[in-house]
Amino acid sequence: MLLKNTLASVRLFCLVLCALQFVNGQNVLALDKENHEGLHLELTSKLKAYCEKIDTSFKKYRWAKSECETFSWYHIRDSVLGDPLTWTIFGEIGADHDKEGLAKKDVTMVMCGVHGDEITPIKFCFDLMYYLRDSLQDPEFKKSFENKVVLIAPLVNPDSYFKRRPTRTNARGVDVNRNFPTEDWFKEAQKMWVSKYRRDKRRNPGKSPGSEPELVFQMNLIKRYNPDKIISVHSPLSILDYDGPSLATGISLSDNVDPNKAQELLIQMSKDASDYRIENYPFFPGSLGNWAGQERSIPTYTLELPTSNPAKSKEYWALFKASMHKAVFHDIRTFVDGHTSQNQKKLDEAEKKLESYAPVSLPSNEPIGQMP
Ligand SMILES: [Zn+2]
Repeated sequence: MLLKNTLASVRLFCLVLCALQFVNGQNVLALDKENHEGLHLELTSKLKAYCEKIDTSFKKYRWAKSECETFSWYHIRDSVLGDPLTWTIFGEIGADHDKEGLAKKDVTMVMCGVHGDEITPIKFCFDLMYYLRDSLQDPEFKKSFENKVVLIAPLVNPDSYFKRRPTRTNARGVDVNRNFPTEDWFKEAQKMWVSKYRRDKRRNPGKSPGSEPELVFQMNLIKRYNPDKIISVHSPLSILDYDGPSLATGISLSDNVDPNKAQELLIQMSKDASDYRIENYPFFPGSLGNWAGQERSIPTYTLELPTSNPAKSKEYWALFKASMHKAVFHDIRTFVDGHTSQNQKKLDEAEKKLESYAPVSLPSNEPIGQMP
């Protein structure tokens, strides 16, 4: 009885909270505003605690200290369980993220840890961070980096990674790589999950697109920086996949990307990693490749490392170091004096669409911490 009453009060509390949220018009899905206020660079106590968690996990996987605290982190929103969703930047962007200045740069966005049970990619992003930090000490390298900006989000889905037994899905049991508001989401995402995947807990697309903070985080990074290319690191499929403007179909929604150069980079990245297998993996309703690559023509490269075995991290970085260097330095823009407004228009439309969805209501009742 007591338990029942407690549950009833919890429910009531949630309902009131959600109603209040609705009344206040605070849509938790709302994308960040254009201005860059609230971008934190100082090591807040929250970030410090987060870095300690990262270090503990690095210890668990027998990696060297993460040096997480030595990087400058930006942080706006939190994961479902309240860990900061962070990114760091290499290259000159100015303190105010001057949009025009940024538009002239060749911007590469790298994301890891979208699926927290894929352990090796998380270390991979840190390895890239060490590489850029150390290389930028060299004046020659620094000079060649002048028109580059690299933003790295090394752990997009911390809740799933920090579980005692990490999972693919976030704390609400949603696959944050199936939750992007792609045009086919409403028609296909749930249907596919039920019929093709028989409600496989690992592939739950969520109840509505853009419902997860880890998803909105990714969309916001894309909106904020308008990257010229995206590298998303996963494991363990041993392939390099590309979504975006295609030579074969001639389809490009963006006239600032040269499909030739985009494909060239794909081939170069493979070559530099002992002819790593290129495969045109199908894209899914709600996936990044679909939303960014297919629908927005932002060249999106998915690097699937061979395994999720943390003991292999060193080996994988050695294998892909040259590819990642190439990914950063290979400019695939048709012209370099700025982006067209076309991409921005599409992003604005996406934002409007997203804001028209109902706010997230109660957390899913699905148990968390499920293993495949
Ligand atoms: Zn993955």
